[in-house]
Amino acid sequence: MVVMLELFDMTAVPDLAEIGERYRALRATVRACEARAGRENGSVRIELAAKYQSPERVLSALQAGAELIGHNLIQQLTAGEEALRELGAPAHRTHVIGHVQKNKAGKALDYADCIETVDSLELAQRLNRLAGEKGKALDIFLQVNSSGAQSQFGIEPEQVVDLAGQIATLEHLHITGLMTIGAHSEDAREIARSFEYTRSLRDDLQAAGIASVTELSMGMTGDMEIAIAEGSTIIRVGTAVFGPRP
Ligand SMILES: *Cc1c(COP(=O)(O)O)cnc(C)c1O
Repeated sequence: MVVMLELFDMTAVPDLAEIGERYRALRATVRACEARAGRENGSVRIELAAKYQSPERVLSALQAGAELIGHNLIQQLTAGEEALRELGAPAHRTHVIGHVQKNKAGKALDYADCIETVDSLELAQRLNRLAGEKGKALDIFLQVNSSGAQSQFGIEPEQVVDLAGQIATLEHLHITGLMTIGAHSEDAREIARSFEYTRSLRDDLQAAGIASVTELSMGMTGDMEIAIAEGSTIIRVGTAVFGPRP
């Protein structure tokens, strides 16, 4: 029997064993959402939003099959990755999904496979310079403020194509996707519009010749079904796996 996420109490904090069950249920639910949206099986990846979770809790999800971890805070990324290494955790990739302060860019580069939250030419130039110094190539996503909310980080949608054109010339960076938080709303249509807008920007970038931009990081616990219907390729999920944050 395939266990779906709906069977779990989202207000409860799961123990280590239940984290694994929840991860498998999330995966089954994502497969069902893909099918419902007429999308190919396996076209959506799950990124664990690991902020404020202990390494042991993250390890449980990795042991259940998780392969991608997202961190908001660089401090938690570095400490978390070092602890997971000590614990002998399975291989996985790490992305940065929180705002990157200038003085944290070097550490972010050392520990992350991709920085999803590039939202200015200045940050891109700094990452490019650091990547060059370290002899690395870095995957980045551009964060788009698709809802227009003043409180959200991200590039204004009207500026995405121009800015991507400039960032695409930086030789140590590789723009592979767009990331967005989407509208904070009770209205599913409004949320869908912000995801749809982000997808249309990705299509604009491809039409403008920046063909490397294929990924769409959008959707969280509360709106992942909408995001998958709108073309998300990576959902960032915390609560559905780990329960409410400490
Ligand atoms: C915390 C966080 C998530 C996950 O949110 P949940 O509602 O717990 O699934 C996704 N994206 C970002 C940027 C986050 O900070």
